[in-house]
Amino acid sequence: MFQKSKIKRKNKVYLSYKYRMYPTPRQKKILYETIETCRRVYNDALLDRRENWEKVKHQEKEVRQTISYVDQVKGIIDKRKTNWWLQRVEAQVLNDVLNRVRKAYEKFISSLINNVPHGLPNLKKKGDYKSFTYPSMKKGRFGKVSNNKVFLSRRIGEVKIRYHRELPDNCKVKTLTVVKKLNEWYLIYKVELLKPDERSDLKICVGLDFGLTSLVTLSNGQHISNPAFIIQAYHKLKKTITRYQRKEKDLKNRRKATLEFLKVKQKVQHQRDDYRHKVTRAIINACDVVFYEGLHFFNLGKNTHMNIHISDAGWGTIARMLEYKARLEGKMVFSVPPQNSSQLCSFCDTKIPKTVEVKIHKCYVCGLEMDRDENASRTTVTY
Ligand SMILES: [Zn+2]
Repeated sequence: MFQKSKIKRKNKVYLSYKYRMYPTPRQKKILYETIETCRRVYNDALLDRRENWEKVKHQEKEVRQTISYVDQVKGIIDKRKTNWWLQRVEAQVLNDVLNRVRKAYEKFISSLINNVPHGLPNLKKKGDYKSFTYPSMKKGRFGKVSNNKVFLSRRIGEVKIRYHRELPDNCKVKTLTVVKKLNEWYLIYKVELLKPDERSDLKICVGLDFGLTSLVTLSNGQHISNPAFIIQAYHKLKKTITRYQRKEKDLKNRRKATLEFLKVKQKVQHQRDDYRHKVTRAIINACDVVFYEGLHFFNLGKNTHMNIHISDAGWGTIARMLEYKARLEGKMVFSVPPQNSSQLCSFCDTKIPKTVEVKIHKCYVCGLEMDRDENASRTTVTY
C-alpha cells in the first residue's frame, strides 16, 4: 500500500518552557545593558548588509558578493578586542544576534525570489529589541536550576526563578533565551524531546483525516467537530472594523476600536489553542500509535479561497501538538505522505474517484460503504 520508507516519524521535536525570573536591581541593570548592546550590534550588522545590498543589487545573482554571517562574526571578533561594551557580553550571545540578522535577510532575499517583496528588514528602535539568546549550552552550572535559582553567567550570577514545572526527563536543552516583556523578565528553555525508549505495550493504532466539517475523523469512526471560532467571531470582528473606520478622525476613539479588535482576535486565538490542546490530549490519551496524512499545510492555507477556514482549522498546529504530546508519553506519531487518501478504498486499495460533494465512499470492488472521511482516515493506517 505505502512504501515504508516514505512514512515519516519526526526526527526532531522541539518544545519551549517559559519561567518568570526575578532579577535583583543590579542584575536588571546588566540584563538591560546586554539587550541594549545586542540591539546596537543588530542595527550595525543590518546597516552593513543594507549598504552592501545597495551596491550589489543590480549585479547578476551568480557574481553577487553579499556579506555572509561568517564575515560578520569575524568582524565582531575584531571589534570586541577593543570595544569595552562588547567585551561585557558573551561572544556566543553576539553571534546569535548576527544569526538573527542573517535570518531576517534571508527572508527578504527569498521574498524577492518568490516575487512577494517583503521589504528590507527594519532597524530596531529602543524598546523594539526585547530578548537575547545563549545559542548553545555550556557545561557546568550554566542554565541549571537549584533552590529556585538559575545560574546564567559569572557577571549576572544566580537569578531567582519561579520553576513551576520541571523540564521533561528525556530532553536536551538547545537554547536559553532571556525575554523582557513589559516590566517582567522571563527565561525560555528551548528543548529537543529525545526519542523515548520503545514501549512494548503500544496497542491501539489509529489513522486521522483532517477536514473542515469534521476537524478530525478517526479511523475508529469517531468524528471531532470543528467549532470554527473565527466564523463565530466574524460579526464581532466586522463591527469593530466598521467602528474603526467611522472614527477616522478621532484618534482616541480609533485607538479604542483597535484595542477592541485586538481583544476579540486574541480571544479567538485562545479559544482555538484551548480546543486544539483538548483534542490532541484526548487522541493521545486514547491511542498509542497515530498516523496522519502529512498535507502541505502551508500551501493549502496560501492559495485557496477557503483560506480563512483552513487557517482557522489549523491542522499543522494540531499535528505539531500531537507529535510532542506523544513523545512525552512514549507513544508514536507518523506522518504518511500525502496522496489521494479520500479517493482510495481503505479495504481493497481500489481508486474510487469522487468529487468534493460526495460524502459516502462506496466501493464497487469489495462492496465497502462508509463515511468519506472515515474511509480516508483508515487509508493512512499502515501496520
Ligand atoms: Zn474496496
